[in-house]
Amino acid sequence: MTHWVYSFSVGKAEGSARERDVLGGKGASLAEMARLGMPVPPGFTISTEVCRYFYANAHALPEGLDRQVDAALSQLEQLLEQKLGDGERPMLVSVRSGARESMPGMLDTVLNLGMNDDTAAAIAKATGNAVFAYDSYRRFIQMYGSVVMDIDASLFEDEIALVKANAGVARDGDLGEDDWKAVIERFKRLVRTELDEDFPEEPRVQLWGAIRAVLKSWMNPRAVTFRALHRIPEEWGTAVTVQSMVFGNMGEGSATGVAFTRDPTTGEDRLYGEFLPNAQGEDVVGGARTPHPLTRTEQTTTDIAPMDIAMPVTYQELRTVAKRLEDHYREMQDIEFTVEAGKLWLLQSRPGKRTPRAAIRIAVEMAEKGVISKPEALKRIDPASLEQLLHPMVAPDIERIVIGRGLPASPGAATGEIVFTSEAAEKALTDGRKAILVRPETSPEDIHGMHASQGILTTHGGTTSHAAVVARGMGKPCISGAGTIRIDMEAGLLITGGKKLKAGDVITIDGTSGEVLLGELPTVQPELSGDFATLMQWADEIRRMKVRTNAESAEEAETALEFGAEGIGLCRTERMFYDDDRIRAVRNFILAADDAERQSALEQLREMQKADFLQLFEIMGGLPVTIRLFDPPLHEFLPRTVPEMHDLAAAMNIDVERVRRKVEDLHEINPMLGNRGVRLAICFPELIDMQTLAIFEAVMEAGEITGEAVVPEIMVPLVAYERELKYIKDRIDVIAASVVNQWGRSFTYLVGTMIELPRAAIRADLIAESSEFFSFGTNDLTQSTFGISRDDAAVYLNEYLRKGVIDRDPFLTIDVEGVGEFVHMACERGKRTRPDITLGICGEHGGDPASIAFCESAGLHYVSCSPYRVPVARLAAAQATLAASEM
Ligand code: PEP
Ligand code: MG
Repeated sequence: MTHWVYSFSVGKAEGSARERDVLGGKGASLAEMARLGMPVPPGFTISTEVCRYFYANAHALPEGLDRQVDAALSQLEQLLEQKLGDGERPMLVSVRSGARESMPGMLDTVLNLGMNDDTAAAIAKATGNAVFAYDSYRRFIQMYGSVVMDIDASLFEDEIALVKANAGVARDGDLGEDDWKAVIERFKRLVRTELDEDFPEEPRVQLWGAIRAVLKSWMNPRAVTFRALHRIPEEWGTAVTVQSMVFGNMGEGSATGVAFTRDPTTGEDRLYGEFLPNAQGEDVVGGARTPHPLTRTEQTTTDIAPMDIAMPVTYQELRTVAKRLEDHYREMQDIEFTVEAGKLWLLQSRPGKRTPRAAIRIAVEMAEKGVISKPEALKRIDPASLEQLLHPMVAPDIERIVIGRGLPASPGAATGEIVFTSEAAEKALTDGRKAILVRPETSPEDIHGMHASQGILTTHGGTTSHAAVVARGMGKPCISGAGTIRIDMEAGLLITGGKKLKAGDVITIDGTSGEVLLGELPTVQPELSGDFATLMQWADEIRRMKVRTNAESAEEAETALEFGAEGIGLCRTERMFYDDDRIRAVRNFILAADDAERQSALEQLREMQKADFLQLFEIMGGLPVTIRLFDPPLHEFLPRTVPEMHDLAAAMNIDVERVRRKVEDLHEINPMLGNRGVRLAICFPELIDMQTLAIFEAVMEAGEITGEAVVPEIMVPLVAYERELKYIKDRIDVIAASVVNQWGRSFTYLVGTMIELPRAAIRADLIAESSEFFSFGTNDLTQSTFGISRDDAAVYLNEYLRKGVIDRDPFLTIDVEGVGEFVHMACERGKRTRPDITLGICGEHGGDPASIAFCESAGLHYVSCSPYRVPVARLAAAQATLAASEM
């Protein structure tokens, strides 16, 4: 019979950390810790296969599962010398979800299962703590009622509020035994009113109800959204772990908490975390009470006792097991623990979420200590996360008006309008406004709002609260537990130190310091030294592909150089034309009445372009610079509306009719498939002649200034016919000869093409006859391979993504099967004609880690990407080389 159920107890377990696919992350971790002899409460895990069966068979459970569960239960009962539902020694269990990858807060869990009138009385007697027993019982009804029986959770809260009002107390903790009994009676009545049935007293009925509810939670809408965002396949399913309960809320010697083996914000090698005395796990992550730190930090106020002072012995024990777990996994761990009457129990250990900065520090320190290898360190960093590190921080020497303080939960600075709901955050995004989501605390329902905002500020919760964990994962700045700030949701106000801010007012949050600042503040780039530089150096030692940048301006080129770019892979020359004086010259060229006017406009443009190129050559100091000739359709430089046409005619002192006629002449139904790129160069060769001359003159001048030979790479866009390229190359060669003649000095230059149309890929062998390099323009190649407009596709591609028709947007990550085939074909055919042809990519995909892995497999020599993605590409290229060497 299929093995559905895997038991574990201290010292032994069926299954181990290797079986995450069967046991889920939590089940696998518990099995591994049990094997290591760690103090885990015993239990058993129902495999993910049961979840798959459940969904393939209309929510039926497989034959024989009940017998395996019964056997595992009685084994557990024998071990604990307790019994589910027993009136003397009742066993209580938790029923927890556990997917292969962590899905925090997305799936359901039921605690304290096995509670009923009899067992509650037995527990009250056995512990001598009736308040604890009846509080636990009501927690169970509340959780089971909402999770399994689907009753609105707020209805339970309303009942508690009523009992508190009757008892005249403000806090849950002030309620006594009789109050909790009254709450329980009210809860039972509520269930009867809502569902017309009684709350189940029979523990086996409760157990199967909970198991089914956990399985069902796999398909709840927030889990489905989370999986789509994190690319977690639906077929993985969740495991269900049934585990004996331990209680962190049994009184003063009890607690519950979360410990990280390293500081998840900075990566510092110290035990870091939070705990709540006399509380259950949900109290910590739920953010309703602000937890205490494990050790004293600058933020700790004196009235709060950290764990090393409140429970010194247990704290030392926690430190020891934490160290053992990190050594065992050779990775920073995030450990959930409970202390029950002085005894430490571990409920989970998994790789801890951390900021990108912490991730780098941990990986570099572990590699330097020899715990992991350098390649392993490189593989542990998500290249895309580096971008976040390069992003701005609040400028240090700027006056800050601090209006509140909280915990620095996720670093970086973010500015935006205050919004108090996730809906408002989404609305702001749609309207193109930046927002900071301000909430008492966040819940999984807020995922969309968090995505839509620049940063998150909560007034409750610690650094392991939902808001903090999710923001770190998203790489967004977050401040949590800003207790000095009060939110009045009804009035739509953020109240702090006498100030009242309303929705729409602008604030800046500094997630690195935890300060909430008034207004928008200037920001600075962070330092890129230390561990970051070390990691980048290791990546550079390993990677095969070079990394260039797409840059037109001096500023972009300089930034990219600082980030380690090894040349410019794409200079889109037309972007240099958008400044006021330049666009005037382009318009003069387009609207010229005769040759003389046209020549004079070109002359102006040549001078400007020469200066631009000279600057780029000087900055790049001998590194390769690929300059692409003019690409867009000419109409992009003319006005669209009639009033704009009038303004232009007046400014140029010409008849508006001439402008109107030109706009009409240049109008195309499909401009992206129109007269652009090489087509335009063939129709208006004087435009690219001018650019070519400007390039060569700049080469000569730069050579004289820097003493370094500049080898420009002139790139022709949108070539489909081999003869198009031949036509342009011949003109370039003629201009080069004339410059050599004029300067009395020879120089080297390369002519190549972009491969951005299917026909160019198919005819690459012939095109290579005139092309010394190919650069894949995968933006246009994706557009032309699919026949979809890169400017308009987002609407239906998002729909495709949502409906699971595609997994990835092909404009973000290269479509390996289609577009990738053209890349392979062009490389192979190009090399047939010219074995030493240089191959690169300059479409947006050049900065996307998954696409960079593809580029490695296609044997490209370099990738080129926007300046901020250069470090991303350096690391992704190193990972690609490592992956290729492992194949
Ligand atoms: C491309 O098409 O991939 C490309 C780099 O050119 P552009 O984006 O300028 O069309
Ligand atoms: Mg293009």
